[in-house]
Amino acid sequence: MEDCIFCKIVAKEIESDIVYEDDRVVAFKDIEPQAPIHYLIIPKKHIPTLVDLQEEDNNLVGHIYQVANKIAKDEGIAKDGFRVVSNCNKAGGQTVYHIHYHLLGGRNLQWPPG
Ligand code: 5GP
Ligand code: ZN
Repeated sequence: MEDCIFCKIVAKEIESDIVYEDDRVVAFKDIEPQAPIHYLIIPKKHIPTLVDLQEEDNNLVGHIYQVANKIAKDEGIAKDGFRVVSNCNKAGGQTVYHIHYHLLGGRNLQWPPG
Protein backbone atom coordinates (compact mmCIF):
# COMPACT_ATOMS: atom_id res chain seq x y z
CA MET A 1 0.00 0.00 0.00
CA GLU A 2 1.32 3.41 -0.95
CA ASP A 3 1.82 5.85 1.92
CA CYS A 4 1.85 3.14 4.56
CA ILE A 5 5.01 3.43 6.68
CA PHE A 6 4.94 -0.22 7.66
CA CYS A 7 4.58 -1.37 4.03
CA LYS A 8 7.61 0.82 3.34
CA ILE A 9 9.50 -0.90 6.17
CA VAL A 10 8.54 -4.29 4.67
CA ALA A 11 9.78 -3.08 1.25
CA LYS A 12 12.99 -1.72 2.92
CA GLU A 13 12.15 1.74 1.57
CA ILE A 14 12.33 3.05 5.15
CA GLU A 15 15.14 1.95 7.43
CA SER A 16 14.34 -0.08 10.51
CA ASP A 17 16.18 -2.29 12.93
CA ILE A 18 14.84 -5.69 11.86
CA VAL A 19 15.22 -8.48 14.41
CA TYR A 20 13.27 -11.20 12.59
CA GLU A 21 11.96 -11.75 9.07
CA ASP A 22 10.38 -14.59 7.13
CA ASP A 23 8.08 -14.91 4.13
CA ARG A 24 5.03 -13.65 6.04
CA VAL A 25 6.18 -11.31 8.81
CA VAL A 26 8.79 -8.76 9.85
CA ALA A 27 9.71 -7.79 13.42
CA PHE A 28 11.65 -4.61 14.13
CA LYS A 29 12.51 -2.28 17.00
CA ASP A 30 9.90 0.35 17.85
CA ILE A 31 11.27 3.83 17.16
CA GLU A 32 9.95 5.05 20.56
CA PRO A 33 10.53 2.11 22.89
CA GLN A 34 8.26 1.91 25.95
CA ALA A 35 10.24 -0.90 27.58
CA PRO A 36 13.81 -2.26 27.38
CA ILE A 37 12.50 -4.66 24.75
CA HIS A 38 9.88 -3.21 22.42
CA TYR A 39 9.48 -4.76 19.01
CA LEU A 40 6.70 -4.53 16.48
CA ILE A 41 5.70 -7.72 14.71
CA ILE A 42 3.82 -7.04 11.49
CA PRO A 43 2.46 -9.10 8.63
CA LYS A 44 3.96 -8.33 5.23
CA LYS A 45 0.38 -8.22 3.96
CA HIS A 46 -1.26 -4.81 4.39
CA ILE A 47 -4.20 -5.20 6.77
CA PRO A 48 -5.32 -1.81 8.16
CA THR A 49 -6.88 -2.82 11.51
CA LEU A 50 -7.74 -5.90 13.56
CA VAL A 51 -11.34 -5.43 12.41
CA ASP A 52 -10.19 -6.13 8.85
CA LEU A 53 -8.85 -9.60 9.69
CA GLN A 54 -10.55 -12.37 7.71
CA GLU A 55 -10.87 -16.11 8.32
CA GLU A 56 -8.10 -16.61 5.79
CA ASP A 57 -5.75 -14.64 8.09
CA ASN A 58 -6.16 -17.05 11.03
CA ASN A 59 -2.91 -18.88 10.26
CA LEU A 60 -1.06 -15.60 9.85
CA VAL A 61 -2.20 -14.36 13.27
CA GLY A 62 -1.23 -17.68 14.86
CA HIS A 63 2.15 -17.41 13.18
CA ILE A 64 2.65 -13.91 14.58
CA TYR A 65 2.23 -15.30 18.11
CA GLN A 66 4.74 -18.07 17.34
CA VAL A 67 7.19 -15.40 16.19
CA ALA A 68 6.53 -13.43 19.40
CA ASN A 69 7.31 -16.57 21.43
CA LYS A 70 10.50 -17.19 19.50
CA ILE A 71 11.73 -13.61 19.94
CA ALA A 72 10.80 -13.63 23.65
CA LYS A 73 12.78 -16.85 24.14
CA ASP A 74 15.75 -15.54 22.15
CA GLU A 75 15.74 -12.31 24.18
CA GLY A 76 15.53 -14.24 27.46
CA ILE A 77 12.25 -12.67 28.61
CA ALA A 78 9.94 -15.66 28.10
CA LYS A 79 10.27 -16.98 31.65
CA ASP A 80 10.00 -13.64 33.46
CA GLY A 81 7.11 -12.56 31.24
CA PHE A 82 6.27 -10.14 28.51
CA ARG A 83 3.27 -8.58 26.79
CA VAL A 84 1.91 -8.79 23.26
CA VAL A 85 -0.59 -6.04 22.54
CA SER A 86 -2.34 -4.72 19.47
CA ASN A 87 -4.21 -1.42 19.45
CA CYS A 88 -7.29 -1.09 17.27
CA ASN A 89 -8.63 2.16 15.84
CA LYS A 90 -8.62 5.59 17.51
CA ALA A 91 -9.97 4.83 20.99
CA GLY A 92 -7.73 1.77 21.11
CA GLY A 93 -4.69 3.96 20.55
CA GLN A 94 -3.81 2.85 17.02
CA THR A 95 -1.66 5.37 15.18
CA VAL A 96 -0.32 3.29 12.27
CA TYR A 97 -3.00 1.65 10.14
CA HIS A 98 -1.18 -1.55 9.22
CA ILE A 99 -1.77 -4.12 11.95
CA HIS A 100 1.09 -4.67 14.35
CA TYR A 101 1.66 -6.54 17.55
CA HIS A 102 3.78 -4.79 20.18
CA LEU A 103 6.10 -7.19 22.01
CA LEU A 104 7.10 -5.53 25.28
CA GLY A 105 9.37 -6.88 27.98
CA GLY A 106 12.43 -6.43 30.12
CA ARG A 107 10.63 -4.65 32.95
CA ASN A 108 7.58 -5.14 35.17
CA LEU A 109 4.65 -3.96 33.08
CA GLN A 110 1.72 -2.29 34.78
CA TRP A 111 -1.95 -3.15 34.39
CA PRO A 112 -4.38 -1.67 33.48
CA PRO A 113 -2.79 0.36 30.67
CA GLY A 114 -3.64 4.08 30.52
P1 5GP B 1 0.26 2.09 17.60
O1 5GP B 1 0.22 3.44 18.27
O2 5GP B 1 -0.40 2.15 16.24
O3 5GP B 1 -0.24 0.96 18.44
O4 5GP B 1 1.79 1.76 17.39
C1 5GP B 1 2.55 2.32 16.37
C2 5GP B 1 3.99 2.20 16.82
O5 5GP B 1 4.83 2.38 15.70
C3 5GP B 1 4.41 3.24 17.86
O6 5GP B 1 4.85 2.57 19.05
C4 5GP B 1 5.51 4.02 17.17
O7 5GP B 1 6.56 4.38 18.04
C5 5GP B 1 5.97 3.07 16.08
N1 5GP B 1 6.46 3.70 14.88
C6 5GP B 1 5.84 4.70 14.17
N2 5GP B 1 6.56 5.02 13.09
C7 5GP B 1 7.66 4.21 13.10
C8 5GP B 1 8.78 4.08 12.22
O8 5GP B 1 8.92 4.75 11.21
N3 5GP B 1 9.71 3.14 12.57
C9 5GP B 1 9.60 2.36 13.69
N4 5GP B 1 10.57 1.47 13.92
N5 5GP B 1 8.53 2.45 14.53
C10 5GP B 1 7.59 3.38 14.23
ZN1 ZN C 1 0.82 -1.30 5.07
